[in-house]
Amino acid sequence: MATAERDYYELLGVERTATDAEIKKAFRKLARELHPDVNAEPDAQERFRAVAEAYEVLSDAERRRLYDQFGHAGLRSGGYAPSDFTFTNLTDIFSAFFGDDLFSRNRGGRARGGDVGVSLSIDLADAFTGITRTVAVDIASTCERCGGEGADPGTQRVTCTTCGGHGQLQQVSRSVFGEFVRTQTCPACRGAGTVVETPCTACEGEGRVIESKELEVEIPAGIHDGQRIRMRGAGHAGANGGIPGDAYVEVRVLPDGRFQRDGDDILSQVDLTIVQAARGAQVSVPALDGELELEFEPGTQPGEVRVLRGKGMPSLERSGRGDQRVLVNVAVPRRLTDEQRELLDRFEELSGEDTYRRDEGFFEKLRNAIR
Ligand SMILES: [Zn+2]
Ligand SMILES: [Zn+2]
Repeated sequence: MATAERDYYELLGVERTATDAEIKKAFRKLARELHPDVNAEPDAQERFRAVAEAYEVLSDAERRRLYDQFGHAGLRSGGYAPSDFTFTNLTDIFSAFFGDDLFSRNRGGRARGGDVGVSLSIDLADAFTGITRTVAVDIASTCERCGGEGADPGTQRVTCTTCGGHGQLQQVSRSVFGEFVRTQTCPACRGAGTVVETPCTACEGEGRVIESKELEVEIPAGIHDGQRIRMRGAGHAGANGGIPGDAYVEVRVLPDGRFQRDGDDILSQVDLTIVQAARGAQVSVPALDGELELEFEPGTQPGEVRVLRGKGMPSLERSGRGDQRVLVNVAVPRRLTDEQRELLDRFEELSGEDTYRRDEGFFEKLRNAIR
């Protein structure tokens, strides 16, 4: 659903230096004009889509940077594909600044506030213990100057002329099956039935202002990378006293150089020298709770895996912890002094088949037993 390559700034009618607020404002104005419910021109929908796509790109700092530097091609190589804007996902775009579902059927215009999404990164160690973090989000909150009314203090809201104060519009369509009546929230007053004549100077009549807020997020021990935490009521304030939306915090768990995670299990590697592997050794290995002393038998082979039960990540779904699996790697010397080479030569002379004889493994024992 790529729009012919039109310049996004041109589509929104803003300068290339436009601030986020200017971009938002320009899109909001265009969206209101072009929304198919209020604009009957045949190309309104197509133009709306183009404008929405432009907004989707320019309202995102990373995408905008890509676009500024490399244009449309940069966006494509950056993996961006424009959303297919339809009536149903329109909501998301409007949530970006109205903070609510403009087109939901909502009596009295008490629209629920929009949800906000934010992501934060934590270390594996934090995911192991659980952690409380604060994260900054831009949230629409009720304007204090007008108390959310939108009208400047001392002035009144007036009845909306588009819907005559009903807050809803009815659209009748006829088909062979009969008449269908579709009720929709009035886009002019967003369901309130009244509109602002003298907008509040603090919120420009929106009744809400965007504020940067600190959310305190409790991240449970055992959280997985990419999981989202829902914080009820922490999203945007609703219009006209509607309930606030929710905040979704996506938690990214950063990779840890010492461990690989596999569900609730973690994997790590231990390097033994050939001498340690041959003679057996006590080696300390990193574990989630700190270092662990592990005893390795003489003749430990590379590729052996030591399973440490209950030393993995705490499980979110059930009690207890996963396992830690430690993979044995045997480090072979890369550089030898003359003396070391002589010693190894001597060692080789003294070695025979028996030196490397394999003990009967479990499966061999089993096979022999069955025979
Ligand atoms: Zn206000
Ligand atoms: Zn209205």
